[in-house]
Amino acid sequence: MSVLLAFQQDPDPFQIISNFLESPILRISGQLVLLLFVVLWVSLVYWTYADASRRGAMSVLWGFVAFIFPYFGTLVYLIVRPPEYLEESRERELELAVLERELRNSVLLCPNCRNLVERDYLICPSCTWELKKPCINCDKPLNMEWGTCPYCSTDQRSGKTIVS
Ligand SMILES: [Zn+2]
Ligand SMILES: [Zn+2]
Repeated sequence: MSVLLAFQQDPDPFQIISNFLESPILRISGQLVLLLFVVLWVSLVYWTYADASRRGAMSVLWGFVAFIFPYFGTLVYLIVRPPEYLEESRERELELAVLERELRNSVLLCPNCRNLVERDYLICPSCTWELKKPCINCDKPLNMEWGTCPYCSTDQRSGKTIVS
């Protein structure tokens, strides 16, 4: 009996809720929230596209995925995207190539004991293996097989200068 009374005394709770739902303030704030979500979605589509092209991923495809699957598309992209920017990886490759060339040019190994030797060493400091011979005219280090000095153009056997 008391339960029934409570129902009768209460102003219909459903009526309160539906009144609240139909109030213009709620409708406007609901539309604002919706607008915010749409703005966020559109900016995420743009960001996904831009970030993918910076990283050399398939930017059009990822932009499309972010558009078709709002928020989740971008989330998936964040997980699988390439770890670095395209420019960075190109720069690193370039740096590596430069480093490699420097290494090839400046560092030599003794053919006998495999220790590091400098380009202008005449003999290996570790095993005294003959690496180069000095030019008979200008004393610059020459490869053992060179017949003519490239620095002063002196023929190493006759001692004559080839180019005057
Ligand atoms: Zn050596
Ligand atoms: Zn010479």
